[in-house]
Amino acid sequence: MYDLDYKYQDPYIDRASGATNTATPLTGRSVASTPLADTVFLTFRYRVKDRHARRLRRMARDVTTVWNWCGGAQEHAYKVRSIWPNLTSLSKGLKGYDNLPGRVYQAVAAQWIISRDKHKKRPRWRVSHGKRRSLGWIPFQDASRVLKVTDEGVRFNKTVFKIWKHREIPEDMRSGSFSEDASGNWFLNIVCRVPADRVAGQGEVGIDLGLKDFAVLSDGSRIGHPKHLSRSAAKLARAQRAGCKAQARKIHRKVAAQRRHFLHVESSRIAREYGTVVVGDVNSARLARTRMAKSVLDSGWSTFRQMLSYKLAMTPGSNYAEADERYSTQTCSCCGSRNGGPKGLKGLRVRSWRCEDCGALHDRDVNAALNILTSGRNVALHETGIPCFWSYWLGLRNG
Ligand SMILES: [Zn+2]
Repeated sequence: MYDLDYKYQDPYIDRASGATNTATPLTGRSVASTPLADTVFLTFRYRVKDRHARRLRRMARDVTTVWNWCGGAQEHAYKVRSIWPNLTSLSKGLKGYDNLPGRVYQAVAAQWIISRDKHKKRPRWRVSHGKRRSLGWIPFQDASRVLKVTDEGVRFNKTVFKIWKHREIPEDMRSGSFSEDASGNWFLNIVCRVPADRVAGQGEVGIDLGLKDFAVLSDGSRIGHPKHLSRSAAKLARAQRAGCKAQARKIHRKVAAQRRHFLHVESSRIAREYGTVVVGDVNSARLARTRMAKSVLDSGWSTFRQMLSYKLAMTPGSNYAEADERYSTQTCSCCGSRNGGPKGLKGLRVRSWRCEDCGALHDRDVNAALNILTSGRNVALHETGIPCFWSYWLGLRNG
């Protein structure tokens, strides 16, 4: 069923660009401990070959029709009887609609109901033409029935769609969608159940994500920013200045792919080498408002955390936690004192410092990573009910 080297590969889990809301396995705020011998749901994403774009766009227009029909049905129903129709009555109304397979318009109606109930109002109309056109989206339920996997792609709605099969499609398919991104590329997204069969690593690690280095690990190792990224960024700036829009877009795509590759490689390595991983919850949205904005927006911290969390979710017996990183720089990882640690704006330039209370000499980032590891441990301790005073002064969320 699976390639032998399957467990060392990482499925892409990029969020579909359409309105799909497919399940991602774990976005663990606190400790996410993976049970032994389990399965996880992952979204597998494949690029659909360009020759199918026209047909997909046509189907997406039918999806838009169904979506907007649901909106119209609700407005009518509300006027006549002041009710919001449920899925059963919407599906009944759609019964004769045979431009799309049944499992497609049911998925559209179901998603329409989900967004309506979430926001407590009629979802926005989808638009098929013009400048404000909604990105193409064709959802379906019960993928194992609507999709027939062939050598080159999948058969869907009486057509074979060829895809770039960078890996085999798992057998246990659940729901899925075709979706279009902003540059007009189409993707096939399938939520699949796969065995959590990665082999767990040894030991624990705390990770301090930062600007100077991409990440500093509590064992003292550093992950720098890849050089080729800044080279491409310079190229991108040049193309933008020269006004070459098409070229700039192309470089942009390349930079994004390079960055994703880098994040995949590093997160896989960490998930393979360590059994317990704690990451600081550094927030790029907050930092992006400061002067460091440019490097912050580029760093991909949240994508990295997301990758780590699902890769560790596929590893039975491993733990993943996100820890509050406030004070992690200022606090001495040996004695817990906050005297002498780098503080405020002036402290940003301090690379190493000595604790005034216990005299330990600290590298700024390694010390932060050690504190993050300690906080993560304490989150785990709290969940098992063992009290711990360390979390108090570390300003832990659960403390
Ligand atoms: Zn100290």
